[in-house]
Amino acid sequence: MSDEGENKPTLGRKPLGLKPRIESGEVKQTFSHGRTNKVVVEVKRKKLVGKPGYAPEPEVAAPPPPPPPPPPPPPPAPARAAAPGGETPQERVARLQREAEEERLRLAEEANRREQEERLRAAEEERRRAEENRKAEAEAAKAPPPPVQVEEQVIEETTDGASPPPARRFTPVESPKRPAPAAPREEVRGADTRREELRREDPKKAPHKPSRDRAGDNRRQSGKLTVTRALDDDEGARARSLAALKRAREKERRSHMSGMQRDAQPKQVRDVVVPEAITVQELAIRMAEKGSDLVKALFKMGMPVTLTQSIDQDTAELLVTEFGHNITRVSDADVDIAHDEDVDAPETLKARPPVVTVMGHVDHGKTSLLDALRGANVQAGEAGGITQHIGAYQVKTKGGDLITFLDTPGHEAFSEMRARGAMVTDIVILVVAADDGIMPQTIEAINHARSANVPMIIAINKCDKDGANPQRIRERLLEHEVIVEKMGGEVQDVEISALKKTGLDDLLEKLALQAELMELKANPDRAAEAVVVEAKLDKGRGAVATLLIRRGTLKTGDVFVVGEESGKVRALINDKGQQVKQATPSMPVEVLGLTGVPGAGEILTVVENEARAREVAAFRKEQAKLKRTTQAPVSVDNMFSALSANRAKEYAVVVKADVQGSVEAIVNALHKISTDEIKVRVLQSGVGAITESDVNLANASKAPIIGFNVRPNAKAREIAEREKTRFKYFDVIYHLTEDVAKEMAGILGPEIIETVVGRAKIQEVFNAGKKDKAAGLLVLEGHIRKGYHTRLTREDVIVSKTVIASLRRFKDDVDEVRAGLECGVVLQDTNDIKPGDMLEIFEVEERERTL
Ligand code: GDP
Repeated sequence: MSDEGENKPTLGRKPLGLKPRIESGEVKQTFSHGRTNKVVVEVKRKKLVGKPGYAPEPEVAAPPPPPPPPPPPPPPAPARAAAPGGETPQERVARLQREAEEERLRLAEEANRREQEERLRAAEEERRRAEENRKAEAEAAKAPPPPVQVEEQVIEETTDGASPPPARRFTPVESPKRPAPAAPREEVRGADTRREELRREDPKKAPHKPSRDRAGDNRRQSGKLTVTRALDDDEGARARSLAALKRAREKERRSHMSGMQRDAQPKQVRDVVVPEAITVQELAIRMAEKGSDLVKALFKMGMPVTLTQSIDQDTAELLVTEFGHNITRVSDADVDIAHDEDVDAPETLKARPPVVTVMGHVDHGKTSLLDALRGANVQAGEAGGITQHIGAYQVKTKGGDLITFLDTPGHEAFSEMRARGAMVTDIVILVVAADDGIMPQTIEAINHARSANVPMIIAINKCDKDGANPQRIRERLLEHEVIVEKMGGEVQDVEISALKKTGLDDLLEKLALQAELMELKANPDRAAEAVVVEAKLDKGRGAVATLLIRRGTLKTGDVFVVGEESGKVRALINDKGQQVKQATPSMPVEVLGLTGVPGAGEILTVVENEARAREVAAFRKEQAKLKRTTQAPVSVDNMFSALSANRAKEYAVVVKADVQGSVEAIVNALHKISTDEIKVRVLQSGVGAITESDVNLANASKAPIIGFNVRPNAKAREIAEREKTRFKYFDVIYHLTEDVAKEMAGILGPEIIETVVGRAKIQEVFNAGKKDKAAGLLVLEGHIRKGYHTRLTREDVIVSKTVIASLRRFKDDVDEVRAGLECGVVLQDTNDIKPGDMLEIFEVEERERTL
């Protein structure tokens, strides 16, 4: 068959390849039509001669020995009208061969087809084919045997080893022009069936000769083949392409079948790579198993999990082993960038400027100081340099040292950055107003600096003011264990006036000195790593982020990943608004070319190429999504705890705002209004318009979307309308929190309100009945009633909460006793009463809750 396979194409190209041989033969007329068939003649004749008794491999191809013309001629087609038009003997032989071949192939096909039918048990396609076959046969009865082109087509199919596609049957129908005897056809078919069994065993090797003979006879009758053949050949291309189509379909079916067979084969054991959390779907893909099978298995393990839910590594391992595969656990770090592991060699490190954050109590002059320092610097040289607020700036000291200041004063920004693990601050300037002293936020700032292990420099501000008493500040600082140099400690202090711009140089010098002591260093000659200080969506420039380079040098064209975003540095702009080519350690710089707005405190890492950047960003996005959609990957443990735990209710929201600063402020504010009973859960927060994904996410949790100075885009609006998503628009954060608080109150249902209606003092305690104790009271305030709730307190500590079981006055049961009167009570379920205890009597009512 493989021979045939090789031959087949040759057949198609016969005129080219075999021309010479034909010429050496005699068939010239046919040749003038420029078609293959002539060639076949030549070749086949040789075959016949060379291999008598053996079924000639179909057609053409093999130059050498074709078998002789059909030896055993079974029911020969009745020779009706000999080939007209003076056919040469060779031609006739060729024709005969072709006819025979055609039949043979037809047989083979049919056998194949039946085999397949049996195997596939009547798939739709099979039925169709059967129908087609019937049609074809019916037509074959009327119509002439298939024209030559059929032969070619069939050969192609057979060489593919494919079963006969139905199209083959149509071909003869396509050329009904040629009149042909029905009778011979019938005979051929009869022969077909007779040999079918044989073919079924091995269709490829099935005997061909008899059929060929008959076919030859057949052909002999229908003359004028040379003419029609030319026509047919023209159609050949069409027919062939149709055949090709069928073959493709056939192949597909076969592959499907082999797939079925594969299922039956022993399972392939795979090494399945499993990250720390993985969705069932993804795991199924990696295991090459059906997702539904995994879900079923999980269900059997008692975990009703959907395909899109994620499971933890341990659960995944159970599944992987259950399905007979091997697990390869990988940690997130394997995909993500591990900043900590990448440590620069000491010899690569070079000194870098310190990064300074200004902290202190409100109104002590932080902003004034930052402005003064920046202003001083502008005057110091950068003529024309317009100060630009990008979140950080650098100042040069008189000694030529650079110092970087973070432009957002206050410990909130500081602690926020720290919370994100992006500790950029090297030194803290603690501003204390000399006329005010140590205030709550001063103390907070001290604590923050101390817990972050960042050295402080005390800037005693407003020293220009009358009544300023720097010394008192130093002394007061001692109370908080801040011992300045003048008090014999190590903390440097400077007296300044941000307003009058005095003491600033001194402050800068001390910062430089402190930095020197700290030996701040970074390797500038490496791929850059930077921290996002601020980020926003700029109308003209797209997503913009201010970075502080931690190490390495960031250059234009660098490809990077930052949080869940990636990008390529399109431009770098320094704190003076100038474009720069590169940014070195501790230098603040604005970067353009991000795919989205990253969060403040996120780390930007330059990576080797865009593919890597996208990979990491996609991984982080996926992780973030996992975190949002499932609080924790499903595992056996937390399944139960989630079911049993009486968890606080959640108020889920999606927050979108115009600038990153607002997003952070809103998210913080929302978290602050969380109580023990109900927590705000920000499903997603970000900068920019409310998008489709925001709406989808919100809908999934039936959460409202908070838009702060932003609105949904068209697509989001469309979905929102359909899904009835709730939007809440605000432009004042206070209104936002107030509104959310109210709504959260609604979610909690009515509040149980206690109203204190009276107070009484226990004067004496005596036995009442066998076990109970009664108390003699003096009602001090309000009134006391039977059945009222009461709290018993002893030295302002609640001892019990109970109900007034009985109330008596002078041995008479009464309903109510008013202030100033004495009475006796029995408290329900408690005998722990002592003289001197207090009773607080209260009513309980349900009220709509407000937070
Ligand atoms: P922040 O809240 O800590 O940022 O404080 P500000 O920088 O906004 O300053 C609060 C007020 O203190 C402003 O009215 C400033 O003008 C004033 N102020 C700041 N520094 C000085 C100073 O050195 N001397 C005097 N007299 N007033 C100052």
